Amino acid sequence: MAGASIIDGKEIAAQVRREVAAKVAERVARGRPAPGLAVVLVGNDPASEVYVRNKARSTREVGMGSFEHRLPASTSEADLLVLIADLNARSDVNGILVQLPLPKHIDPVRVIEAIDPAKDVDGFHPVNVGRVASGAKALAPCTPTGCLILASSVQADLGGLEAVVIGRSNIVGKPMAQLLLSANCTVTIAHSRTRDLPLVARRADLLVVAVGRAEMVRGDWIKPGAIVIDVGIQRVAGAGGKGRLVGDVAFEEVKAVAGAITPVPGGVGPMTIACLLQNTLQAAEAA
Ligand code: NDP
Repeated sequence: MAGASIIDGKEIAAQVRREVAAKVAERVARGRPAPGLAVVLVGNDPASEVYVRNKARSTREVGMGSFEHRLPASTSEADLLVLIADLNARSDVNGILVQLPLPKHIDPVRVIEAIDPAKDVDGFHPVNVGRVASGAKALAPCTPTGCLILASSVQADLGGLEAVVIGRSNIVGKPMAQLLLSANCTVTIAHSRTRDLPLVARRADLLVVAVGRAEMVRGDWIKPGAIVIDVGIQRVAGAGGKGRLVGDVAFEEVKAVAGAITPVPGGVGPMTIACLLQNTLQAAEAA
């Protein structure tokens, strides 16, 4: 069997970043300031450190200003809110991203709601959540936006497709469903209480999986020819005691049935930062 085509997230993300870089250069040539992205990291979670470093590097690579704020884990919520107020007021900062998770003594909802919605490049502020839900122009969350770009790379018009999203988090599943609805898909949202998940998944012409369970989705859950977007990323034990990265989808099995599939790594992952840069440019252009 020929199997699915592989959706190259690395290449598509590179293309998005090139487009952003070209638009930034054009903007600067028009005499406008380069967009600026502020990333705030509280504490020293190793995974968050890597994300923040990568975001800062990618930001500079497309010609934008990168402002990193590293605060100790003991930082009070009040002090973090003061920093956000300061970033809200700065004209050289167009996007503000507070890296999650935050230490337990800080309420993430209060922090997200303190960010100016016009600078909320993560798309987590209730104003942007509402705008995405109502189909208005918004700063939409980066990971689902990236998934939409990947699916559209296979089929430009997703209208009329049966889309199934497994996972209903505020960060991925719910906004994904809203974006697919705006793209005229018929959308089902499945979750841990869904009955007969394989049956629901088999309905999908487009299946997006954001669960966080390694290789949960099997080959016999897939409608032949479906587009499969795997958001999950986990490290599991591999051959020779070495860890390997896998998604929520059993790649080899599903690849044999699907029409197109994202790999892990190299699928959705690289799209998230590319869409963050796109959002920062959008915020700057709207300022
Ligand atoms: P959450 O843990 O916030 O949400 C997981 C969702 O999956 C929940 O809605 C949960 O249902 C559902 N779920 C859990 N178990 C099952 C099950 N057995 N059957 C059906 N549904 C189930 O995770 P996130 O949405 O934040 O992330 C999901 C995955 O995506 C993770 O692996 C994460 O690492 C990855 N991720 C990758 C990103 C990237 O850039 N590539 C960015 C963000 C996330 P319920 O609501 O009922 O509990």
